[in-house]
Amino acid sequence: MNRIAIAGAAGRMGRTLIEAVISSDYQLELTAATVLEDDPAHGVDVATLIGTAPIGVVAAASLESLVDDFDTLIDFTSPEASLEHVALCLRHGKSMVIGTTGFSDLQKQALAEAAATIPMVFAPNMSVGVNVCLKLLQSAAAAFGDNVDIEIVEAHHRHKKDAPSGTALRMGEVIADTLGRKLDEVAVYGREGISAERDRKTIGFATIRAGDIVGDHTVIFAGPGERVEITHRASSRMTFAGGAVRAAAWLQGKGPGLYGMDDVLGWVDKQ
Ligand code: NAD
Repeated sequence: MNRIAIAGAAGRMGRTLIEAVISSDYQLELTAATVLEDDPAHGVDVATLIGTAPIGVVAAASLESLVDDFDTLIDFTSPEASLEHVALCLRHGKSMVIGTTGFSDLQKQALAEAAATIPMVFAPNMSVGVNVCLKLLQSAAAAFGDNVDIEIVEAHHRHKKDAPSGTALRMGEVIADTLGRKLDEVAVYGREGISAERDRKTIGFATIRAGDIVGDHTVIFAGPGERVEITHRASSRMTFAGGAVRAAAWLQGKGPGLYGMDDVLGWVDKQ
Protein backbone atom coordinates (compact mmCIF):
# COMPACT_ATOMS: atom_id res chain seq x y z
CA MET A 1 0.00 0.00 0.00
CA ASN A 2 1.39 3.41 -0.99
CA ARG A 3 0.68 5.95 1.76
CA ILE A 4 -0.27 9.32 0.25
CA ALA A 5 0.05 12.82 1.65
CA ILE A 6 -1.69 15.75 0.00
CA ALA A 7 -0.11 19.20 0.32
CA GLY A 8 -2.50 22.14 0.13
CA ALA A 9 -5.47 19.90 0.95
CA ALA A 10 -7.90 22.81 1.33
CA GLY A 11 -7.22 24.22 -2.14
CA ARG A 12 -9.33 23.67 -5.25
CA MET A 13 -7.08 20.84 -6.42
CA GLY A 14 -6.38 19.68 -2.85
CA ARG A 15 -10.06 18.98 -2.18
CA THR A 16 -10.45 17.21 -5.51
CA LEU A 17 -7.36 15.14 -4.74
CA ILE A 18 -8.82 14.06 -1.39
CA GLU A 19 -11.85 12.72 -3.24
CA ALA A 20 -9.71 11.12 -5.95
CA VAL A 21 -7.39 9.33 -3.50
CA ILE A 22 -10.21 8.14 -1.21
CA SER A 23 -12.25 6.78 -4.13
CA SER A 24 -9.30 5.34 -6.10
CA ASP A 25 -9.06 1.65 -7.01
CA TYR A 26 -5.26 1.77 -6.82
CA GLN A 27 -3.28 0.49 -3.83
CA LEU A 28 -3.22 3.95 -2.29
CA GLU A 29 -4.26 5.20 1.12
CA LEU A 30 -4.68 8.81 2.17
CA THR A 31 -2.67 9.05 5.40
CA ALA A 32 -1.56 12.68 5.69
CA ALA A 33 -2.48 16.19 4.55
CA THR A 34 -1.28 19.74 5.02
CA VAL A 35 -2.81 23.21 4.85
CA LEU A 36 -1.48 26.63 5.78
CA GLU A 37 -1.48 27.33 9.53
CA ASP A 38 -4.13 30.06 9.28
CA ASP A 39 -6.41 28.04 6.98
CA PRO A 40 -9.83 27.31 8.51
CA ALA A 41 -9.21 23.66 7.57
CA HIS A 42 -6.20 23.43 9.93
CA GLY A 43 -6.90 20.66 12.47
CA VAL A 44 -9.96 19.44 10.58
CA ASP A 45 -10.43 15.85 9.36
CA VAL A 46 -9.83 16.19 5.62
CA ALA A 47 -12.73 13.97 4.58
CA THR A 48 -15.10 16.55 6.06
CA LEU A 49 -13.67 19.10 3.58
CA ILE A 50 -15.42 17.16 0.82
CA GLY A 51 -18.53 16.48 2.89
CA THR A 52 -17.86 12.82 3.70
CA ALA A 53 -17.44 10.96 7.01
CA PRO A 54 -14.14 11.46 8.91
CA ILE A 55 -11.28 9.09 8.01
CA GLY A 56 -8.89 9.99 10.83
CA VAL A 57 -6.58 12.18 8.70
CA VAL A 58 -6.29 15.64 10.23
CA ALA A 59 -4.94 18.55 8.17
CA ALA A 60 -1.62 19.62 9.73
CA ALA A 61 0.33 22.84 9.19
CA SER A 62 3.73 21.14 9.06
CA LEU A 63 4.73 18.46 6.57
CA GLU A 64 7.82 17.73 8.68
CA SER A 65 5.59 16.56 11.55
CA LEU A 66 3.97 13.99 9.21
CA VAL A 67 7.16 12.63 7.75
CA ASP A 68 6.67 9.10 9.17
CA ASP A 69 3.10 8.94 7.89
CA PHE A 70 3.50 8.92 4.10
CA ASP A 71 5.51 7.50 1.18
CA THR A 72 4.41 9.80 -1.66
CA LEU A 73 3.48 13.48 -1.56
CA ILE A 74 0.99 14.86 -4.07
CA ASP A 75 1.61 18.59 -4.28
CA PHE A 76 -0.59 21.16 -6.06
CA THR A 77 0.27 24.34 -4.15
CA SER A 78 2.61 27.16 -5.25
CA PRO A 79 6.16 27.08 -6.65
CA GLU A 80 7.64 28.33 -3.34
CA ALA A 81 5.72 25.81 -1.23
CA SER A 82 6.47 22.95 -3.63
CA LEU A 83 10.19 23.72 -3.49
CA GLU A 84 10.11 23.60 0.32
CA HIS A 85 8.33 20.25 0.06
CA VAL A 86 10.92 19.01 -2.44
CA ALA A 87 13.71 19.79 0.05
CA LEU A 88 11.88 17.86 2.77
CA CYS A 89 11.11 14.88 0.51
CA LEU A 90 14.74 14.85 -0.57
CA ARG A 91 15.91 14.72 3.07
CA HIS A 92 13.54 11.90 3.90
CA GLY A 93 13.59 9.88 0.66
CA LYS A 94 9.90 10.41 -0.27
CA SER A 95 8.56 10.23 -3.80
CA MET A 96 6.55 13.13 -5.23
CA VAL A 97 3.83 13.98 -7.73
CA ILE A 98 4.03 17.71 -8.47
CA GLY A 99 1.22 19.41 -10.37
CA THR A 100 2.05 22.98 -9.33
CA THR A 101 2.65 25.39 -12.22
CA GLY A 102 4.45 28.72 -12.55
CA PHE A 103 8.01 27.55 -11.80
CA SER A 104 10.87 29.64 -13.23
CA ASP A 105 13.55 27.86 -15.27
CA LEU A 106 15.84 28.02 -12.23
CA GLN A 107 13.18 26.47 -10.02
CA LYS A 108 12.58 23.72 -12.61
CA GLN A 109 16.30 23.04 -12.49
CA ALA A 110 16.02 22.51 -8.73
CA LEU A 111 13.24 19.96 -9.32
CA ALA A 112 15.42 18.12 -11.84
CA GLU A 113 18.33 18.05 -9.40
CA ALA A 114 16.15 16.63 -6.63
CA ALA A 115 14.80 14.01 -9.03
CA ALA A 116 18.32 12.62 -9.40
CA THR A 117 17.79 11.30 -5.85
CA ILE A 118 14.02 10.78 -5.46
CA PRO A 119 11.33 9.52 -7.87
CA MET A 120 9.24 12.48 -9.09
CA VAL A 121 6.40 12.94 -11.58
CA PHE A 122 6.15 16.58 -12.61
CA ALA A 123 3.59 17.70 -15.20
CA PRO A 124 1.83 21.02 -15.70
CA ASN A 125 -1.28 19.13 -16.76
CA MET A 126 -2.13 15.65 -15.54
CA SER A 127 -5.24 15.08 -17.64
CA VAL A 128 -5.04 12.27 -20.18
CA GLY A 129 -6.85 14.48 -22.71
CA VAL A 130 -4.27 17.26 -22.57
CA ASN A 131 -1.49 14.74 -22.98
CA VAL A 132 -3.30 13.32 -26.03
CA CYS A 133 -3.44 16.92 -27.35
CA LEU A 134 0.34 17.27 -26.87
CA LYS A 135 0.78 14.27 -29.18
CA LEU A 136 -1.63 15.76 -31.73
CA LEU A 137 0.27 19.05 -31.59
CA GLN A 138 3.53 17.28 -32.40
CA SER A 139 1.93 15.68 -35.47
CA ALA A 140 0.29 18.92 -36.59
CA ALA A 141 3.46 20.99 -36.13
CA ALA A 142 5.57 18.42 -38.00
CA ALA A 143 3.06 18.35 -40.88
CA PHE A 144 2.65 22.14 -41.21
CA GLY A 145 6.31 23.02 -40.62
CA ASP A 146 6.96 26.73 -41.19
CA ASN A 147 3.90 27.20 -43.43
CA VAL A 148 1.42 28.37 -40.80
CA ASP A 149 1.05 30.92 -38.02
CA ILE A 150 0.71 29.31 -34.58
CA GLU A 151 -1.23 30.88 -31.72
CA ILE A 152 -2.15 29.42 -28.33
CA VAL A 153 -5.24 30.71 -26.51
CA GLU A 154 -5.98 29.65 -22.94
CA ALA A 155 -8.76 30.46 -20.48
CA HIS A 156 -8.93 29.80 -16.73
CA HIS A 157 -10.90 30.86 -13.65
CA ARG A 158 -10.36 34.30 -12.13
CA HIS A 159 -8.27 32.96 -9.18
CA LYS A 160 -5.46 31.45 -11.24
CA LYS A 161 -2.16 33.12 -10.36
CA ASP A 162 0.26 32.28 -13.19
CA ALA A 163 -0.14 33.36 -16.83
CA PRO A 164 0.10 31.99 -19.42
CA SER A 165 -0.85 28.63 -17.94
CA GLY A 166 1.80 25.95 -17.47
CA THR A 167 -0.15 23.85 -19.96
CA ALA A 168 -0.09 26.58 -22.62
CA LEU A 169 3.66 26.94 -22.13
CA ARG A 170 4.13 23.16 -22.36
CA MET A 171 2.10 23.16 -25.60
CA GLY A 172 4.36 25.93 -26.91
CA GLU A 173 7.47 23.98 -25.91
CA VAL A 174 6.29 20.80 -27.65
CA ILE A 175 5.53 22.74 -30.85
CA ALA A 176 8.79 24.71 -30.72
CA ASP A 177 10.82 21.54 -30.12
CA THR A 178 9.11 19.82 -33.06
CA LEU A 179 9.90 22.79 -35.32
CA GLY A 180 13.50 23.19 -34.12
CA ARG A 181 12.74 26.57 -32.51
CA LYS A 182 13.53 27.74 -28.97
CA LEU A 183 10.35 28.83 -27.21
CA ASP A 184 12.01 31.65 -25.26
CA GLU A 185 13.22 33.13 -28.58
CA VAL A 186 9.91 32.87 -30.48
CA ALA A 187 7.21 33.32 -27.82
CA VAL A 188 5.12 36.51 -28.04
CA TYR A 189 3.04 37.10 -24.91
CA GLY A 190 1.27 40.28 -25.94
CA ARG A 191 1.06 42.33 -29.11
CA GLU A 192 0.23 45.75 -27.70
CA GLY A 193 2.73 48.23 -29.07
CA ILE A 194 3.96 45.92 -31.85
CA SER A 195 3.22 47.57 -35.18
CA ALA A 196 5.15 45.23 -37.48
CA GLU A 197 3.62 42.37 -39.49
CA ARG A 198 3.54 39.02 -37.73
CA ASP A 199 6.77 37.03 -37.95
CA ARG A 200 5.82 33.52 -39.06
CA LYS A 201 8.23 31.83 -36.67
CA THR A 202 6.74 33.41 -33.58
CA ILE A 203 4.34 31.47 -31.36
CA GLY A 204 1.72 33.77 -29.85
CA PHE A 205 0.01 33.33 -26.48
CA ALA A 206 -3.30 34.86 -25.39
CA THR A 207 -4.66 34.56 -21.86
CA ILE A 208 -8.22 34.85 -20.57
CA ARG A 209 -9.01 34.92 -16.83
CA ALA A 210 -12.72 34.84 -16.05
CA GLY A 211 -15.35 33.32 -13.78
CA ASP A 212 -15.00 29.65 -12.91
CA ILE A 213 -13.50 28.28 -16.15
CA VAL A 214 -11.68 25.05 -15.14
CA GLY A 215 -9.22 25.20 -18.07
CA ASP A 216 -9.54 25.63 -21.85
CA HIS A 217 -6.68 25.51 -24.36
CA THR A 218 -6.82 26.01 -28.13
CA VAL A 219 -3.87 25.91 -30.48
CA ILE A 220 -4.50 27.52 -33.87
CA PHE A 221 -2.46 26.55 -36.93
CA ALA A 222 -3.50 29.13 -39.54
CA GLY A 223 -2.28 29.08 -43.13
CA PRO A 224 -3.51 30.53 -46.40
CA GLY A 225 -7.06 29.33 -47.03
CA GLU A 226 -7.45 27.09 -43.98
CA ARG A 227 -6.82 26.67 -40.31
CA VAL A 228 -6.71 23.80 -37.86
CA GLU A 229 -7.66 24.29 -34.22
CA ILE A 230 -6.82 21.71 -31.57
CA THR A 231 -8.86 22.32 -28.42
CA HIS A 232 -8.99 20.78 -24.97
CA ARG A 233 -11.66 21.81 -22.46
CA ALA A 234 -11.56 20.59 -18.88
CA SER A 235 -14.99 20.63 -17.26
CA SER A 236 -13.96 19.06 -13.93
CA ARG A 237 -10.79 19.17 -11.81
CA MET A 238 -11.24 15.43 -11.35
CA THR A 239 -9.52 14.95 -14.72
CA PHE A 240 -6.31 16.45 -13.23
CA ALA A 241 -6.69 14.72 -9.84
CA GLY A 242 -7.33 11.36 -11.51
CA GLY A 243 -4.08 11.75 -13.47
CA ALA A 244 -2.19 12.68 -10.30
CA VAL A 245 -3.52 9.62 -8.48
CA ARG A 246 -2.57 7.43 -11.43
CA ALA A 247 0.91 8.98 -11.33
CA ALA A 248 1.23 8.26 -7.59
CA ALA A 249 0.25 4.61 -8.14
CA TRP A 250 2.68 4.34 -11.08
CA LEU A 251 5.55 5.75 -8.98
CA GLN A 252 5.44 2.89 -6.49
CA GLY A 253 8.64 0.88 -6.84
CA LYS A 254 10.18 3.31 -9.38
CA GLY A 255 13.77 4.50 -8.95
CA PRO A 256 14.86 8.14 -8.82
CA GLY A 257 14.12 10.20 -11.91
CA LEU A 258 12.11 13.09 -13.32
CA TYR A 259 9.09 11.54 -15.00
CA GLY A 260 6.27 13.10 -17.00
CA MET A 261 2.75 11.97 -17.84
CA ASP A 262 4.22 10.35 -20.97
CA ASP A 263 5.97 7.90 -18.67
CA VAL A 264 2.91 7.38 -16.48
CA LEU A 265 0.68 6.71 -19.49
CA GLY A 266 3.24 4.32 -20.96
CA TRP A 267 3.82 6.39 -24.10
CA VAL A 268 7.57 6.76 -23.65
CA ASP A 269 8.24 3.00 -23.61
CA LYS A 270 6.09 2.44 -26.68
CA GLN A 271 7.84 5.01 -28.89
P1 NAD B 1 -5.53 26.94 -4.79
O1 NAD B 1 -5.02 28.29 -4.51
O2 NAD B 1 -7.02 26.69 -4.75
O3 NAD B 1 -4.85 25.85 -3.81
C1 NAD B 1 -3.52 25.90 -3.37
C2 NAD B 1 -3.57 25.59 -1.89
O4 NAD B 1 -2.25 25.37 -1.40
C3 NAD B 1 -4.18 26.74 -1.05
O5 NAD B 1 -5.21 26.22 -0.23
C4 NAD B 1 -2.99 27.24 -0.21
O6 NAD B 1 -3.39 27.69 1.06
C5 NAD B 1 -2.18 25.94 -0.11
N1 NAD B 1 -0.78 26.14 0.26
C6 NAD B 1 0.10 27.06 -0.20
N2 NAD B 1 1.29 26.90 0.41
C7 NAD B 1 1.17 25.85 1.26
C8 NAD B 1 2.05 25.19 2.14
N3 NAD B 1 3.32 25.60 2.30
N4 NAD B 1 1.59 24.13 2.86
C9 NAD B 1 0.31 23.70 2.72
N5 NAD B 1 -0.58 24.29 1.89
C10 NAD B 1 -0.16 25.35 1.16
O7 NAD B 1 -4.96 26.56 -6.24
P2 NAD B 1 -5.39 25.35 -7.19
O8 NAD B 1 -6.36 25.85 -8.21
O9 NAD B 1 -5.73 24.16 -6.36
O10 NAD B 1 -4.02 25.12 -7.98
C11 NAD B 1 -2.83 24.79 -7.27
C12 NAD B 1 -1.70 24.63 -8.27
O11 NAD B 1 -1.94 23.50 -9.12
C13 NAD B 1 -1.51 25.82 -9.22
O12 NAD B 1 -0.14 26.00 -9.46
C14 NAD B 1 -2.24 25.36 -10.48
O13 NAD B 1 -1.80 26.01 -11.64
C15 NAD B 1 -1.87 23.90 -10.48
N6 NAD B 1 -2.74 23.03 -11.28
C16 NAD B 1 -2.12 22.03 -11.94
C17 NAD B 1 -2.88 21.11 -12.64
C18 NAD B 1 -2.19 19.94 -13.28
O14 NAD B 1 -2.86 19.09 -13.90
N7 NAD B 1 -0.87 19.82 -13.17
C19 NAD B 1 -4.27 21.23 -12.68
C20 NAD B 1 -4.88 22.27 -11.97
C21 NAD B 1 -4.09 23.17 -11.25
